Amino acid sequence: MVETRKCPLCGGTMVKAKGETLKSSVVPPWKSKLQGWTTPGVGAEVWLCIDCGVVLHYVKADDLKVLKEEFETLNAEGKE
Ligand SMILES: [Zn+2]
Repeated sequence: MVETRKCPLCGGTMVKAKGETLKSSVVPPWKSKLQGWTTPGVGAEVWLCIDCGVVLHYVKADDLKVLKEEFETLNAEGKE
């Protein structure tokens, strides 16, 4: 079973590519609990569209949830 998602650009079918995620290239602009000595950034999955050929990176759903919570916490603190 191949994981798929809808392409946001053409509406076609995207499939998850094999291989390493890019731990070092997706770094949030604050200190996240997802980061550590061995993981300076957040892992991102590589997806490619088999209809238009675009390649996109998506942060994993679990990690995205953490980032969103941290962002909302920061935002709330800024408003006080
Ligand atoms: Zn596409």
